[in-house]
Amino acid sequence: MNIHEYQAKDLLRSFGVPVPPGVAVGSPAEAREAARQLDSGVVVVKAQIHAGGRGAGRYVGEPACGGVRLVKTPEDAQHAAFEMLDRVLVTKQTGPEGRLVRKLYIEAGSAIEHEYYLSILLDREARRIVIVASSEGGMSIEDVAAEKPESIHKSWIDPTIGLSDHQSRDLAVKLGFTGKQIAAFAAIVRSAYTAFTTLDASLLEVNPLALTKDGALVVLDAKMSFDENGLFRHANVRALRDPDEEDPREQEAARFGLSYVGLDGTIGCMVNGAGLAMATMDIINSEGESPANFLDVGGGASREKVAAAFRILLADPNVEGVLVNIFGGIMRCDIIAEAVVSASREVGLHVPLVVRLAGTNVEEGMALIENSGLDVTVASDLADAARKIVAAVRARRAA
Ligand code: GDP
Ligand code: MN
Repeated sequence: MNIHEYQAKDLLRSFGVPVPPGVAVGSPAEAREAARQLDSGVVVVKAQIHAGGRGAGRYVGEPACGGVRLVKTPEDAQHAAFEMLDRVLVTKQTGPEGRLVRKLYIEAGSAIEHEYYLSILLDREARRIVIVASSEGGMSIEDVAAEKPESIHKSWIDPTIGLSDHQSRDLAVKLGFTGKQIAAFAAIVRSAYTAFTTLDASLLEVNPLALTKDGALVVLDAKMSFDENGLFRHANVRALRDPDEEDPREQEAARFGLSYVGLDGTIGCMVNGAGLAMATMDIINSEGESPANFLDVGGGASREKVAAAFRILLADPNVEGVLVNIFGGIMRCDIIAEAVVSASREVGLHVPLVVRLAGTNVEEGMALIENSGLDVTVASDLADAARKIVAAVRARRAA
């Protein structure tokens, strides 16, 4: 789960990380009042969407207006808010369709001397938390990696020891800090790491971490993501979920307890078992098309759950074909077949459907599908199923 910048900053502040004062607002009048109260000379007005690159982003139809604006008076903050709220901001990370901006963050401006980069994430290969830092902040870390890879430093944390002070001080030195700034940077790393582990975060990215003209280090931008499986432990983090920013397909799937991840391909997949689901996505890719989703309907899913899953696939406007791949063990093929047939009747099957069933009650399942009168292509194995759905989708496109 992702959260907004202002929410991440509130969390970090509560862990003692230095963050400039700021207020989240939903109207131009509130923006003006917030700027007046901050009374900071320069005020930064920042669009709150779950995507980065806002500074370089552009509002649809407003080539001069980006998602991060520096203003000097409460009136200017109000005017900027008027131009930024309830409009669509396009950034490198939003895709061309952009995101509707519903909230702004009004922050006391900082005079920047230099921008650094700091992030904490899980290195799955190393099976450790890794701290990544660079003296080249402000731009995306992918760009830094391409242009100045030598400026990126990593430090892996031994889970049996935890973060040691010498690790963060060592990073500080590698970034070029001297004197008091070494301790200041180390303290930020320590507090950020405590926030990361305490809250079961999966990513914490500060870009930029700014060195100000008066020598202070402050977090100017913060992004946090959380492990869904840890959310039950953190009511305060759960409360930060913003449904407006989430994939509606994933929200619907979550209501039914389905393991569903929305993707941007065109072939909807309904599979039992995470491994088989991954293999199915791989084979679709190797046939030259891409999956619209990951979906593992699990072992003992009810008819209702399977039908809900199938409805989500059919309702997805990007889906040009559906592949059902069930290797029935615990999951009975007749239940899958019944759910597929009833959901297809309910929603209307408007795209090609290829079904591969194997395992428990496969004959009953196949009979249900064949007698349903629906236009379904039956496949014998996974490779056959992938070839058939790709061929069907392409034929439909060409038609
Ligand atoms: P992003 O573009 O979505 O990553 O948004 P950021 O919060 O990182 O802001 C983009 C850029 O705006 C930063 O890299 C800074 O250069 C600039 N910026 C943000 N806050 C301030 C500020 O308080 N003062 C100044 N001078 N620049 C700022
Ligand atoms: Mn940023």
